[in-house]
Amino acid sequence: MRETLVLNASFEPLAAVSLRRAVVLVLQDKAVVEREHAGLRIRAENLDLPVPQVIRLCRYVRVPFRRRAPWSRRGVLVRDQHRCAYCGRKATTIDHVVPQSRGGGDTWLNTVAACTADNWRKADRTPAEAGMELLTEPFEPTPADALVLALGLRDEQALGWEPVPA
Ligand SMILES: [Zn+2]
Repeated sequence: MRETLVLNASFEPLAAVSLRRAVVLVLQDKAVVEREHAGLRIRAENLDLPVPQVIRLCRYVRVPFRRRAPWSRRGVLVRDQHRCAYCGRKATTIDHVVPQSRGGGDTWLNTVAACTADNWRKADRTPAEAGMELLTEPFEPTPADALVLALGLRDEQALGWEPVPA
């Protein structure tokens, strides 16, 4: 998969994102193409774009997590796309996999999005003790993920365009 370098509005490099994400940013007028691949275009119905090698955000985005994203409740919900890690339904709360009362911290790897019912059912227990299974493992977002979160992009918007010879 081709990657595109994303520069901040100030020209400071932020992260490499997938070509698809880069195209979404350009199509949403959130970024402009600074450098394109010679001889390649992205063509689809109603779409004809250069293949971006470097894009620059139109608006300066404060990205305080160049290396490591700071943990936040909202960040966990966004990372998990507001889906409960135990049942897949809509999540509005954060569950500590190892409960806080047992020393589990506010970290990316110890928290998942959870629906109210599952959060209540699990209570002060580990998933094993509660007989509950995590559908997905919590992960620490990469700088590219963090950028996508900061920009409010969703993966569904990254449709399957492939570059073709111009
Ligand atoms: Zn649930």
